[in-house]
Amino acid sequence: MNDNLTAVLYGIEDLRLEQRPIPVPKDDEVLLQMDSVGICGSDVHYLVNGRIGDFVLRKPMVIGHEASGIVAKVGSKVKHLQIGDRVAIEPGYGCRVCDFCKAGRYNLCDEMIFCATPPFDGNLTRYFTHPADFCFKLPAHVTMEEGALLEPLSVGVHACRRAQVGLGSEVLILGAGPIGLVTLITAKSMGASKIVITDLLQSRLDVAKELGADETLVVERGASETEVVKQIHALFGGAPDKTIDCSGAEATSRLSILATRSGGCAVMVGMGAPEVKLPLVNALAREVDIRGVFRYCNDYPAALSLVASGKINVKRLITHHFNIEETLDAFNTSRHGLGGAIKVMIHVQPKDTNNPK
Ligand code: NAD
Ligand code: ZN
Repeated sequence: MNDNLTAVLYGIEDLRLEQRPIPVPKDDEVLLQMDSVGICGSDVHYLVNGRIGDFVLRKPMVIGHEASGIVAKVGSKVKHLQIGDRVAIEPGYGCRVCDFCKAGRYNLCDEMIFCATPPFDGNLTRYFTHPADFCFKLPAHVTMEEGALLEPLSVGVHACRRAQVGLGSEVLILGAGPIGLVTLITAKSMGASKIVITDLLQSRLDVAKELGADETLVVERGASETEVVKQIHALFGGAPDKTIDCSGAEATSRLSILATRSGGCAVMVGMGAPEVKLPLVNALAREVDIRGVFRYCNDYPAALSLVASGKINVKRLITHHFNIEETLDAFNTSRHGLGGAIKVMIHVQPKDTNNPK
């Protein structure tokens, strides 16, 4: 055990594979032999732009945060995990002592340590240490890829919880990328009675349809706002209770207010420009609540039970598989959406090594 091939982002357009020392777990940590790591839009964003808002890459950083692995060593205080356990890794944890952490809203902690958000290393590597309580043991029938997908799925769970999706909700989802799609399957499993999802790309809407969208709408870039609202209302036969923006374009942030019924809720998951022009008076005069979403907190358990119960199919999101040695090709595929890429999965160990037979 001395090979620790690791994908390190040195700067803009400078992603390298190199050997790193194998880390040693602290008392409350586990050492993980990594298995599957999905590429997220934010990983690509750091590669292309070197920053996301105030998070700036100032020193080399290991990339990757949508991950699963096998427990290889346990710290002396770890009770719930054993060597050989297959786990999903929740990539971010707070300081545990501030008001937010104590209240359970650790995603808002100022001292948050989050994989592959500068300056913290991610886990596209062969060996990685992580707090054991942020590792979730996978039941035997759940695959390692599904474990990795719990990360984006948790964003969908958090978004639907923030939107208070429930029995009979009518939900509009804007954007059918990985985040729009996980939000769709979560909203459906939480009891939404009608879900309409939009995108610029028909290919993504085709997947949305397969995953259970009631209606889909292709929007043309630059289409008239009033016209799009009309089309959406026609599909619902009225205005939706809740809109979840999973694109981050200014056009969809605006639509999430304009299309929602009075007294409803517009949830913003997509992150685009730091400042956006919104029809605020329209929102306040109709009491449309605007709610933000920042990652997730305490959502991994629900995401895992959705997958483990077989209620939802996240595997359909994976369109491409690569080995860790092919990391640059994997990023290229994700970045340019080659071959209709939705979720690109990188295998640190040969595919299916740790999957149910
Ligand atoms: P993605 O780029 O793969 O998907 C965005 C989709 O929106 C694309 O399919 C695109 O075609 C579509 N789109 C663009 N303009 C549109 C328009 N005018 N109308 C309808 N659809 C439109 O990205 P993703 O990985 O699915 O992530 C979605 C967004 O969520 C990103 O902005 C990302 O930064 C953000 N995000 C936020 C959080 C959070 O914690 N708030 C977490 C994860 C991702
Ligand atoms: Zn804290």
